[in-house]
Amino acid sequence: MNNIDFDKKHIWHPYTSAINPLPCYEIEGAEGVNLTLSTGETLVDGMSSWWAAIHGYNHPLLNDAAHKQIDKFSHVMFGGLTHDPAVSLCKSLLNMAPYGLQRVFLADSGSVAVEVALKMALQYWACQGRPDKHKIVAPRNGYHGDTFAAMSVCDPINGMHSLFSNVLTKQLFAPAPQTRFGQTFSEDDILPLEELFAHHHHEMAALIIEPVVQGAGGMRIYHPEYLKRCRQLCDNYDVLLICDEIATGFGRTGKLFGCDHAQISPDIMCVGKALTGGYMTLAATLCSEDVAQGVCQGSPGVFMHGPTYMGNPLACAVANASLSLINENRWQEQVRQIERQLKDTLSKCLALPCVADVRVLGAIGVVETKHPVDVAALQRSFVKSGVWIRPFGKLVYIMPPYIIKPDALLRLTDAIYSALAT
Ligand SMILES: *Cc1c(COP(=O)(O)O)cnc(C)c1O
Repeated sequence: MNNIDFDKKHIWHPYTSAINPLPCYEIEGAEGVNLTLSTGETLVDGMSSWWAAIHGYNHPLLNDAAHKQIDKFSHVMFGGLTHDPAVSLCKSLLNMAPYGLQRVFLADSGSVAVEVALKMALQYWACQGRPDKHKIVAPRNGYHGDTFAAMSVCDPINGMHSLFSNVLTKQLFAPAPQTRFGQTFSEDDILPLEELFAHHHHEMAALIIEPVVQGAGGMRIYHPEYLKRCRQLCDNYDVLLICDEIATGFGRTGKLFGCDHAQISPDIMCVGKALTGGYMTLAATLCSEDVAQGVCQGSPGVFMHGPTYMGNPLACAVANASLSLINENRWQEQVRQIERQLKDTLSKCLALPCVADVRVLGAIGVVETKHPVDVAALQRSFVKSGVWIRPFGKLVYIMPPYIIKPDALLRLTDAIYSALAT
């Protein structure tokens, strides 16, 4: 059996059917912004492997970091032991993070970082003698991962909550922010959330939100003022603010973190995805000293979480190399350039009858169609045009590696236009 056939018969892929799976393409190599298929074609990557490979594939600096670390040691338990890769990484993260974040919990994936954030918030209030504050509030259209607590704060409709309504914790939902980035902020936008806080603050542990861009829950780009108001509401009503920067972190939106658009600092922040430049799975949950102290007051006196691969030295070493590339600050001009070109080239999609909306922020370009797209057909058309773009629902979107050159980016946006025009 060849690889594709074995794969189709035996291997789960993200969000696909075991009965009628979408076709898979076999990759043989990846270099810079290019993916090479086993059939020999080269595709320009528009996805950065889901927000992660910001510096491109097979990067010499990241490769070198992995090689150097693997020759020393790949992993040791983090219980009772520490090492330079983890210490250096946490130092860098705290230097880069919004003001006031002082403690880092290293997690092994984005969903786990969200679980940790939610657990911190709940334990914080329980240890303050306020176990009644045990609900999380979230705007609709959010996405925070696929584990159970993370699912409970995802959009209740497109997160398919009805399937799990018996087991998921019932959280509190506000309407999704409506004012678009760059528009004049409408006061109406925040009213429902204000009302929710006024009526439910006594049972609210935290508000969780993706800063400025709601990713997998709809690729919605909203006004930073909404985020600013979230901070104020949390302050006024004694509720913790959790910012999920797993997709938005490390420059993707044109600022280092999505929070920076609103000049706010969360009490708890999750990062992941681009943390290792797309090399391996690693995430982190940062929190303020107040949260850390609060969580560890009284009994049990410790934070009850500790993944086996916590602080994996190999992943930390690569993350350190990725952050050092970020800190060279070339991403600012690269992302600005991508944003300019995306705005110029994607806007013509608006003229297509099947297109409902086009939006761009930083190195993110989104074309929303009026009806759900045929993913398999569109994918075939993209591969034929020499690009890798993975649409879902009504969303055809790209977030290419920051190193992409104008001609390669043009191939991506031309392919989107052509595919949607036919
Ligand atoms: C991808 C994502 C997650 C989940 O991360 P995984 O590493 O896939 O578990 C959580 N929150 C946001 C905003 C994400 O984009």
